[in-house]
Amino acid sequence: MKIQCMTIEEIKQGYIEKRFTVTEIVKSYINRIKKLDGEINVFITLCEESALKEAKEMDEKIKRGEKLGALGGIPVALKDNICTRGIKTTCASKMLEAFIPPYDATIVKKLKDAGAIIIGKTNMDEFAMGSSTENSAFKITKNPWDTKKVPGGSSGGSAAALSAGFAPLTIGSDTGGSIRLPAAFCGNVGFKPTYGLVSRYGLIAFASSLDQIGPFTKTVKDCAMSLNILVGNDPLDGTSVQEEIKIDYVSDLDQGVKGLKIGVPKEFFGEGLDEEIHESIQNAIKKLEDLGAIIEEFSLPIKKKGLSAYYMISSAEASSNLARYDGVRYGYRTENFKTIDELMINSRSEGFGEEVKRRIMLGTFVLSSGYYDAYYKKAMLFRKKIRNTFKEAFEKYDVILSPTSPKLPFNIGEKSEDPLQMYLSDIYTVNMNIAGVPAISIPCGFSQSKLPIGVQFIGDHYTEKKLLQVAFALEQALGIYKEVPVIKEGK
Ligand code: GLN
Repeated sequence: MKIQCMTIEEIKQGYIEKRFTVTEIVKSYINRIKKLDGEINVFITLCEESALKEAKEMDEKIKRGEKLGALGGIPVALKDNICTRGIKTTCASKMLEAFIPPYDATIVKKLKDAGAIIIGKTNMDEFAMGSSTENSAFKITKNPWDTKKVPGGSSGGSAAALSAGFAPLTIGSDTGGSIRLPAAFCGNVGFKPTYGLVSRYGLIAFASSLDQIGPFTKTVKDCAMSLNILVGNDPLDGTSVQEEIKIDYVSDLDQGVKGLKIGVPKEFFGEGLDEEIHESIQNAIKKLEDLGAIIEEFSLPIKKKGLSAYYMISSAEASSNLARYDGVRYGYRTENFKTIDELMINSRSEGFGEEVKRRIMLGTFVLSSGYYDAYYKKAMLFRKKIRNTFKEAFEKYDVILSPTSPKLPFNIGEKSEDPLQMYLSDIYTVNMNIAGVPAISIPCGFSQSKLPIGVQFIGDHYTEKKLLQVAFALEQALGIYKEVPVIKEGK
């Protein structure tokens, strides 16, 4: 089987049957990355040496008859805002270009404990602000299905890495859609868990009350397998779930959807939705109906205001979180200063990109004493309303279904000069972060021009298992998860 088609499940099985070694698998991925990443621009850092060393150790373990962990020998690529001990973590920003964390994020520790092998760090929008991965200080990642198109953002590097076949598991972060949107654009399964379910310790903060880490995988089962590793209480993260999580997300995936009530919010299907996406989602709904789900249209009137509230809340938090980059303690420091004020101003002016500065200014504005009541406070009141609206909806429905993105992957450069158009890409994803509820995007079809289309399932807090079951049922019925893009090597 070709390496770019392999799932975590298949690689694990291959190790058990001794069809290949861990070193062979890691080498195949590294060779593929070396051959093709020049076309896609995924990696900020490739960890070739350490990955091969770990693979060798893993092979020795197998020879000694020792058991591998749940992700033993599985290569994983991490978004470059997740701290990795001894490996550069840049947030795709000049500000952190030389930052080498002295510690691992909790999820990195968990992945390593499960036997996963870090293969590299992936490109992203600077500080996770963006929807296209064009806001990186280093390079623009391209969509493996069509390299003229964006891969979505801000975790575009991790999404593109997965669909380009550079790793069978990649990790992203989602503050307002940054896992789900690129998953939809690149044809992956992407999961944003309930707020607090996965530790944020070691995730470089954008908007702390919204940020969540989650996986990109080829299949829903792989997603469930990786969630098993990622979730759980962490004393190092005060907002992480308090109880011990004893759920096995993999078991009973094939429960089916018979009798399940799925709500379809009519506001998510109106103006602005691409016709081909609409059709593809209707087809998915029909499939679910055939499988015995009860589909009902209802009203969830939060879409537009939710987007405004999101950009206020996330920018407010960002302006505070990013105050730490002052050129004094760590990060980029200007050479051009005489006074302490100049040191701070010039370090920040030179170290941050356009979009990050825009968010800091917006955030500072909505928090300023003259405007706090009119903007930030209003947004927070609306946040409460969004939470309640979801609560009410989940009294009636097991799951809510919507498109993930209003548009197909767009051309590189098409929206980069128009921030409002870019922000509209998140119209179907931000509300789940505001409410803290989990959501998954899975591929549900292709456009005529062979660009992937994603469908989103949203659940009440801590109903990940149910979401995975519904997603699994649809995935199996559609049977499109085996398709991978063909990437042409250099000109
Ligand atoms: N695109 C959204 C933004 O720019 C979401 C980003 C994210 O989820 N990290 O804020």
